[in-house]
Amino acid sequence: MTILYTDIRELVTNDPANADGDPLGIIADAAVVVDGSQIAWVGRATEAPDADEKVGCADASVIPGFVDSHAHLVFAGERSAEFAARMSGQAYEAGGIASTVAATRTADDATLLAGVQRLADELLRAGITTFECKSGYGLTVDDEARSLRIAKAVTDETTLLGAHVVPPEFRDDRSAYIDMVTGPMLRACSPHARWVDVFCDRGAFDVDETRHILTEGIKAGLDARLHAGQLGPSAGIKLGVELGAASVDHCTYATDDDIEALAAAADTTVATLLPGAEFSTRARYPDGRRLIDAGATVALATDCNPGSSYTTNMPFCIAVAVRDMNFTPAQALWAATAGGAAALRREDVGVLAVGRRADFVVLDAPSFIHLAYRPGVPLVRDVVRAGKHLNQRVESRS
Ligand SMILES: [Zn+2]
Repeated sequence: MTILYTDIRELVTNDPANADGDPLGIIADAAVVVDGSQIAWVGRATEAPDADEKVGCADASVIPGFVDSHAHLVFAGERSAEFAARMSGQAYEAGGIASTVAATRTADDATLLAGVQRLADELLRAGITTFECKSGYGLTVDDEARSLRIAKAVTDETTLLGAHVVPPEFRDDRSAYIDMVTGPMLRACSPHARWVDVFCDRGAFDVDETRHILTEGIKAGLDARLHAGQLGPSAGIKLGVELGAASVDHCTYATDDDIEALAAAADTTVATLLPGAEFSTRARYPDGRRLIDAGATVALATDCNPGSSYTTNMPFCIAVAVRDMNFTPAQALWAATAGGAAALRREDVGVLAVGRRADFVVLDAPSFIHLAYRPGVPLVRDVVRAGKHLNQRVESRS
């Protein structure tokens, strides 16, 4: 069945062919035809073909569904007191993860699954139609494998993050933990994961350890991505480029050299910035414009996790990126859609063009600029994922 979405005041396609090479590919007074789960036609409303059903968008704007390439959704426990303490002046340290690890290990499968489904629902309601989900709060062979099985219930973009931190029981023998991660854990988890990730930073894993873990993950058939440069300058950023990682995430302390390396690898490795993490840890923000101007491919993601960025809201991340990370509204929107798709090496999402998955967001706003211009306002009117409405709030005229 075909559905014509019409009366779209401003349609962001991310297809430069629609707008003389402009990356957002904006079409004014536009329409989209969806056939099943895919886009069948995109263009001016006056030229739209007939369809089985017609949906009026009442002069709203439409953007591609957000692609969140970095989220930690499988966990139990509650850390709001830690956030309050941090806002009273305590510094963020990677070790806070241990409290979530303890709670996650003792939670049963049903509790973890319910938590993941609740967060997946929040992501969708905020317009995120594709998202990645990491393990990393189990840190035993069985708990990492079950975290990934549970993540698989909500997304195919699953990531083994057994190297999140060294758990307390291995504190005096970190090499034994790394042997476990690269041995039995990798064997048990690789059937349930697409990606392997390492938290390469102070208090977590150093660059040599990260190289070893990612290399073993790649040998096991997983693709690499990593956390690097969040808490201080790190050779991890260049390591990610060297290993051909799909994305180096955080890059808060990227040096000129790092940025040059990321720019030279723009077709392979994305720099993913996570505004929620700096916001929630009251840390310095990276300069997105500096990366973009140098030629790097840049993504924005939520980093949804209970410790340092407990948000599922991409419009919030866009607003912070524009206000505090030097992005233009257009750059931020691209990074949160096409940029996220690049960070997950996905061709089928992030762009509204014929043959792509019909993932889009209808905004209660005349322009996508309102995502940053009206921070905190719930502008997501409707979300369509693989051709299906999630909210049913669009005015239907069929
Ligand atoms: Zn993270």
